[in-house]
Amino acid sequence: MVSFCIRNAFLLSEDRSSFSLCPGDIVLEDEVITDVLPPSTLSASDGVDGSGCIILPVLANAHTHAFEHLLKGFKTGRKIDEPHPDWFWKLYEAWPTELALLGARLHLLEYLAAGVGVVVDVLRSSMPTGPFEALRKELGLGGLQFGVGANVDCLDLGSEIHSSFATRLDILDSRPGPTWIHLHFMETPQRREAAIRHLGRDPGTALRVRAPAHSRWLLSHASAAEVQDLRAFSDWRATVVSTPGAEARLGERTADPRCVLAEGLDLALGSDGPCYNPRLDLFEEARNLCHCDGDALDMKTLDAAWRALFWRPG
Ligand SMILES: [Zn+2]
Repeated sequence: MVSFCIRNAFLLSEDRSSFSLCPGDIVLEDEVITDVLPPSTLSASDGVDGSGCIILPVLANAHTHAFEHLLKGFKTGRKIDEPHPDWFWKLYEAWPTELALLGARLHLLEYLAAGVGVVVDVLRSSMPTGPFEALRKELGLGGLQFGVGANVDCLDLGSEIHSSFATRLDILDSRPGPTWIHLHFMETPQRREAAIRHLGRDPGTALRVRAPAHSRWLLSHASAAEVQDLRAFSDWRATVVSTPGAEARLGERTADPRCVLAEGLDLALGSDGPCYNPRLDLFEEARNLCHCDGDALDMKTLDAAWRALFWRPG
């Protein structure tokens, strides 16, 4: 086994309910922390000096669109359903996979530099998942790659108003899986109304009739979700992915973390794609989540934000 130690650093452990910083000498075996000793236990010749440094678990970004990187910032300040110029959609749809992969590489490298080690990425429907999954693994990042197709393990349903939503739902009927299902869920009140019209009943109930019982749901945004929409998923393994920074830039509401947790769903943090949110700072997202209900000192909200930073698929 390879031993390594970092002296006099502060360790932020996700196991501590208070998430307080614990000073100490940190011992690692094969890249796993095996012991935390009192500060200055080890001699100066052991390992490296971590004075003034904070050691923390890898951060998780549970929702992005890495392929959009070369269009970074395009949607900042625009409303989510605001019509875009024709050239934008022509470019968006015609974006070749090679160029998208180059952008994705830059995007993921920025995350690595920001301490992110788990990325949940959602592709445009026409792009193959294989090369993007291979890229994520090449860079040593954990996570999930969502795409569209009968053979993908992680199926992206798009959004309830997407023109191909019905076709993507049909994929659910034609196979026993997939295990993971992603949906841009109830992003605006208008989309919620459109979803109810489209599905003929409340979307949560309509979706649970179609999806395999063992499905794991990732519901991104949920900005306009009502309590009953969240409740429809409360006895599934479902996670709401909040992207407060993107919501703020789009002028949208952020899902109330207390409501999500009260209905029995898990909560994760994401940045959304670089088109919508050019910042890749998950601590900023956590701060935004704390502020979204105007009560930054609410410990339940703060605790949810901390936990959302370290979400990991299991
Ligand atoms: Zn998205």
